[in-house]
Amino acid sequence: MNVRVRIAPSPTGNLHIGTARTAVFNWLYARHYQGTFILRIEDTDQERSRPEYTQNILDGLSWLGMNWDEGPFFQSQRLHLYQAAIQKLLDQGVAYRCYCTSAELDEMRAAQKTCGEAPRYDNRHRHLTPAQEAAFQAEGRQPVIRFMIEDDQAITWPDLVRGSMHWQGRDLGGDMVIARATASGEIGQPLYNLAVVVDDLDLQITHVIRGEDHIANTAKQILLYEALAGAIPEFAHTPLILNSEGRKLSKRDGVTSISDFQEMGFIAPALANYMTLLGWSPPDPTQEIFSLSEAAAHFDFERVNKAGAKFDWDKLDWLSSQYLHDEEKLSLSALTDALIPYWQQVDYDFDPIAERPWLEQLSLLIRPSLVRLKDAVAMTEFLFTRELTWTDEAQKQLRQDGAETALEGIVNQLDSQAELSAQTAQDCINQTVKDHNLKKGLVMRSLRAALTGDLHGPDLLESWLLLHQRSEDLKRLQKALDFACSHAG
Ligand code: GLU
Repeated sequence: MNVRVRIAPSPTGNLHIGTARTAVFNWLYARHYQGTFILRIEDTDQERSRPEYTQNILDGLSWLGMNWDEGPFFQSQRLHLYQAAIQKLLDQGVAYRCYCTSAELDEMRAAQKTCGEAPRYDNRHRHLTPAQEAAFQAEGRQPVIRFMIEDDQAITWPDLVRGSMHWQGRDLGGDMVIARATASGEIGQPLYNLAVVVDDLDLQITHVIRGEDHIANTAKQILLYEALAGAIPEFAHTPLILNSEGRKLSKRDGVTSISDFQEMGFIAPALANYMTLLGWSPPDPTQEIFSLSEAAAHFDFERVNKAGAKFDWDKLDWLSSQYLHDEEKLSLSALTDALIPYWQQVDYDFDPIAERPWLEQLSLLIRPSLVRLKDAVAMTEFLFTRELTWTDEAQKQLRQDGAETALEGIVNQLDSQAELSAQTAQDCINQTVKDHNLKKGLVMRSLRAALTGDLHGPDLLESWLLLHQRSEDLKRLQKALDFACSHAG
């Protein structure tokens, strides 16, 4: 099957999770059929479009692995195509200039509201005479160009997700605006529905896959395809992404753009995996972890839900940890590369090149506890810092009876070790327990408090070895010992 699909974001904000999920579905469909995935930037809204948003969108799609085969096409560079199409519609007599002022439109809607009718344009300027047009122009009115929609026109299409769809022309709000025009009536900036149809025809799009919030637009666009005598593509309207209250995920829910997720410490394959599950289920529903290419092998619209997809942070975190913990999905070296920027961002003291082996060891230590990359910042602070502080709990531990003896024992043992290894570190602890007849738990807790400043954290021996490599252990033990001495008894 020949498949040409597109993602068509508007650069009026950063790449939104909803748009990115639509991109994923388009990409999967294209890859499933060895088709073509096209990127088009819909920047006709000059006031709200910004180059930095375009950049954010391109970066976000690339980061997710949504590599496009054609484009990016920019609508702002294709105005001649839209103008030609609008002229064609004007020439055919199915489009016309409407000179209504916004005050008149408001009045029209207010009157409709009073009668309990849905607001719509009442098509009043459909058949203006040249003299009427000239009079409006003489008044300085700025027209728009409208496309005629007949009330009794039925519009149907077989939606690949939602099945058979039916619309009635009368439910589309009257003749629709397809372009602005200059005061003298020349064709100006095209509007979304017109530009999309012209582009989708020009790019020979075979399947329009987009969010269900575009369903009413589809009905209007089908009328435009017919008027322009173009081949109507297939449509697939995907479910919206909802928040925990079942409403469309929006800015109010906090993070919504792909760069936010990236910054929070999700890695691209985990996020892409999660997004695939937002509305699609694999043939084996128990298989929740898969790569994009695995998903592409099975992707079809039969397995896309009609109901909205609830965004589930717990599930995303679970998936994220599955990726971060698995050496096959993310090698230790790649994990370390991914963590370094987070440590740099908070100005931890390290040399990324000279201390690379140490950093990898550290990554290995915390890997099993990571849910998001960013967690590494808090988890490893005690390893990087040159000024360790103790939590209240740790201070309490250092004041305990026996803590001083335990620490003193460890310091002496450490002195006598030529080299610290997992084995010799263990020996230091065992010998201290034995020599001073102490409880092992007390020695371990005191050691942890002294070395890490806390009573909880990653493996103690591994942490000790890491600190030893930076010559931080003896210093910390002595400082804790001084504290324990001064508070003993
Ligand atoms: N620019 C539209 C959007 O961002 C694209 C809709 C479409 O795919 O036709 O929602």
